[in-house]
Amino acid sequence: MDHTNHLMPLRILVTGAAGFLGSHLVDLLLEKGHEVIGIDSFETGSPKNLQHIGDAQRFRLINHNIQTPLEGLQLGHIDQIFNLACPASPIHYQKDPVSTLKTCFRGTENILELAKNKNARILHTSTSEVYGDPKVHPQPESYWGNVNPFGARSCYDEGKRVAEALCYAYHENYPDLEIRIARIFNTYGPRMAHSDGRVVSSFIGDALDGENIKITGDGTATRSFQYFTDCLDGLQRLMNSNYTQPVNIGNPGEFSMREFAEIVAEMVSEKGKPKVLITYLPRPSDDPNTRKPDISRAKEILGWEPTVPLREGLKKTIEWHIEQRK
Ligand code: NAD
Repeated sequence: MDHTNHLMPLRILVTGAAGFLGSHLVDLLLEKGHEVIGIDSFETGSPKNLQHIGDAQRFRLINHNIQTPLEGLQLGHIDQIFNLACPASPIHYQKDPVSTLKTCFRGTENILELAKNKNARILHTSTSEVYGDPKVHPQPESYWGNVNPFGARSCYDEGKRVAEALCYAYHENYPDLEIRIARIFNTYGPRMAHSDGRVVSSFIGDALDGENIKITGDGTATRSFQYFTDCLDGLQRLMNSNYTQPVNIGNPGEFSMREFAEIVAEMVSEKGKPKVLITYLPRPSDDPNTRKPDISRAKEILGWEPTVPLREGLKKTIEWHIEQRK
């Protein structure tokens, strides 16, 4: 099947469909005319993120945990699978680390089995966390990472690493199985809940509540921030390419946490709120010091690079948070 022909509607399965990125991906795929089956256990995502779709003929949402095989679900023919199901914020993935590892290993195995049986192409969403606390900066895909296998973040970092290894091993065993691996870097935007503790939504939520923005560490650690529309464009291009190696999907713009907190405080105050202060808390263990993608591969292979500047994406995200509070 020619997956690059966007004019031809495909049947596409999205796991993690009710989450932040998954729900936006479902919207995009439906907009492009595809038929979409969403799978989610609603562990961190919510059906509310998909409520606006209503009773669309081309969309079906199934409550299912990918730790259990999907063969009994009567899914019919499937062309492509985007595997996004996994808790993504530290407070969520650390709540039940064994379950996080099961989702990464058994879940990915179940999705790979499904892809094999349905002759579907699979794109697995990996993460910049596979680079751990990197000793190479910025991080190219060829860097093997610096990950603690025995610590608070290991269930996610090592889980995502084993999931990549599993995709590779399946492709080795079944060369006809088409795999794609996206290493996503910090992505933000509307539908990312304030309560999930990730830095963008936490900072915005705190600033809107009139509470000090809390930075863990001294504020010199750096992060890159990618708006979700850029991320989804990268995922789509990768899925429809013929490239089987991992590809970084992230925004190389690098900001110190202090700089970023100041931008959020200033932009929230421009919305008529009092300007909040910044408080510094102890840094959690294994928290990476720097993070910045080398996106040469994505540029070369996919002709992709992010286009949304930080302040533009933040403006839309802040407005969404304000809307949620009405
Ligand atoms: P999210 O928590 O908003 O969404 C994850 C979704 O997966 C949720 O709806 C959750 O209920 C569902 N889920 C979790 N475990 C499941 C299971 N066992 N079975 C079925 N559904 C399950 O997170 P997100 O930010 O949308 O992330 C989506 C994917 O992208 C994740 O795999 C994450 O690791 C990856 N990723 C995200 C980022 C980012 O910055 N947002 C960065 C790197 C990688």
